[in-house]
Amino acid sequence: MRTYLSDFVALFFPNICLGCESALPNGVPHICPTCQYNLPKTRNYKIEVPHIEQKLAGSVRYSHLLAYVHFHKKGIVQKLLHELKYNHKEEIGIMLGRWFGHDLLLAGFQNEFDIIVPVPLHPSKFKKRGYNQSEAFAKGLAEVLKMEVVNALVRNVASETQTKKSRIERQENVASIFEVAEPNLVIGRRVLLVDDVLTTGATIIACGNQLINVGVSEFSVAVIAATQ
Ligand SMILES: [Zn+2]
Repeated sequence: MRTYLSDFVALFFPNICLGCESALPNGVPHICPTCQYNLPKTRNYKIEVPHIEQKLAGSVRYSHLLAYVHFHKKGIVQKLLHELKYNHKEEIGIMLGRWFGHDLLLAGFQNEFDIIVPVPLHPSKFKKRGYNQSEAFAKGLAEVLKMEVVNALVRNVASETQTKKSRIERQENVASIFEVAEPNLVIGRRVLLVDDVLTTGATIIACGNQLINVGVSEFSVAVIAATQ
């Protein structure tokens, strides 16, 4: 009965691929196999944005800096991230985390990290959205890499009103907004910090230095996408 009903509904409101807008086969969520195959994946999981890599290398001591896909304006990655963040599609983050997790397993990353720590949302934003999109990605990764997601960081300030500040001011502003709330869960561990999009690197630098200051043994980063 349920499938009849959902087939009937699908006649009028078919599930369409976020990439090519073709009707999706039953049971295939969000993106068709062709668009999945054609995702703009990074080469060797590297972000390949030299000025961001340089900035990060000069500001925080990291072991691995991994990105699943490239971000292009108006491309499929932007659509996926938009659905993930603004359209209640937490499962898109989990799906991308699983896919990236499988790639990382094949590449021999299964024993590189001990725990996964998502970049937190401010509590007021978490309440409004109902989930943390970075944590969704972390859950997918953790499932495949057989690791634990540890919400060790907290965000003390909602950081949305920064658009008019200079880059340096922004970075200083960001540096003080994250805090390790659960140091005993990360001390001596190899931490993989997970975020949705890497843009300026300021968030990664701020979280990374907080984690390093409390004594993680290694700090690495994985993001869904890096902007050019
Ligand atoms: Zn498609």
